[in-house]
Amino acid sequence: MASCTAPKGTFDILPTPATPAEEWKRSHLWSYLERVMVDLARTYAFCEIRTPIFEQASLFIRSVGETSDIVSKEMYTFQDKGNRALCLRPEGTAAVMRAFVQHQLQQHGTKHKFFYKGPFFRYDRPQAGRYRQFHQFGVEAIGEDTPQQDFEVISLLVEIYRQLGLGDLRLQLNTLGSHACRARYTKALLEFLTPHTDRLTPDSQRRLHANPLRILDSKDPNEQALLERAPRLIDVIDGASRQRFEALCSLLTKANLPFEVTPTLVRGLDYYNHVVFEVVSDQLGAQNALGGGGRYNGLLASFGGPDLPSVGFSLGIERTLIALLEARCCLPPPPAPLVSLIPLGPAAHTACFDLLYTLRRQGVCTELIDAKTVQKALQKAAKLNATFALVLGDHEIAKQTAQVKIMKTRETKEVAFGNLTSFFLNPPGA
Ligand code: AMP
Repeated sequence: MASCTAPKGTFDILPTPATPAEEWKRSHLWSYLERVMVDLARTYAFCEIRTPIFEQASLFIRSVGETSDIVSKEMYTFQDKGNRALCLRPEGTAAVMRAFVQHQLQQHGTKHKFFYKGPFFRYDRPQAGRYRQFHQFGVEAIGEDTPQQDFEVISLLVEIYRQLGLGDLRLQLNTLGSHACRARYTKALLEFLTPHTDRLTPDSQRRLHANPLRILDSKDPNEQALLERAPRLIDVIDGASRQRFEALCSLLTKANLPFEVTPTLVRGLDYYNHVVFEVVSDQLGAQNALGGGGRYNGLLASFGGPDLPSVGFSLGIERTLIALLEARCCLPPPPAPLVSLIPLGPAAHTACFDLLYTLRRQGVCTELIDAKTVQKALQKAAKLNATFALVLGDHEIAKQTAQVKIMKTRETKEVAFGNLTSFFLNPPGA
């Protein structure tokens, strides 16, 4: 028999999840979150871009970096029937850059601002807040290399959380400097760590020559103690890089957006330079990063496109929803029909069926309820959380007038058929 469970690390998003712990899988909350994010991104003048869910595997290998966790361990790579090496997309930036180059989007202006949302895939050990299919919302701003552009992207990320009502977050910020600074620092860090190789965890020993910057991310207390004496990125970056970082910090201060300069924040991907940032929640446990991003000047050019600078972020929808519920933020109630139609007898059933589609065509969310008695039908309407119940029998059909029950107050009003839509959409006294 075929297995009847979703693959490990994936989940269903349902109108009514089975347990309170799965509340974050409620579909109307997903729609709400996506709507808030999309509306805000549009307010900041970002436009939507949608790219395929699978791409050529080489796209991510080249850009994210062969030594990154994503490429070395987590990609869902497969060969299609034409022997092409493809993979389920593990992140969004590389795909947006690929689309930009493929369609020569530079023709349409000097500044390009995109947002995207959808599923992404990484083969990692599933745990709370970490899934194999997860969902991100992200933005990319291409064409401007200024602290003001960095600020716009960061402030959008912060504003999303502010609008959702999540106050207890920390914005962490660091600069990797230019490509040259990053390379210089990597060398200095390697020189510092090499004599202490035996004090490093096996993971860090593996990273030492492949990607030493990632060791800064370590959660191991011994390594953290060792790293306290390591050279600091912020101390080796050149004057111009430092100045632009300071300009960004003062823009954030001026806008009243609190942040913490976090010298160990490097983020896992190869393509970052200059600013990197992350929003973390102290309520989320080990997987505490809600979203993050940075600048990746040079990435577009590395795909054969124009050398346009870029900055962006992506955030996890799952973790955002978990944090919102954890913090008991105000969330919308599940959608409910405005009107429950309750027919009494076969003639009323036909009339209700006509009314059902008339009301729906006029934008009134309506559901037909079948039950043995009016009592039972009203109980069903209450369970559905309907605002109104419309009971229709032969007498009402003859009079072309319906009895409308206002479920909250239990009041009943008589409304002529012709006035039903305006009554439901603009109820008197509402
Ligand atoms: P990243 O692309 O790794 O910088 O991730 C950006 C955001 O996506 C993170 O801060 C998380 O909120 C979310 N995220 C990344 N990987 C996963 C995953 N495996 N499961 C759930 N959320 C994830």
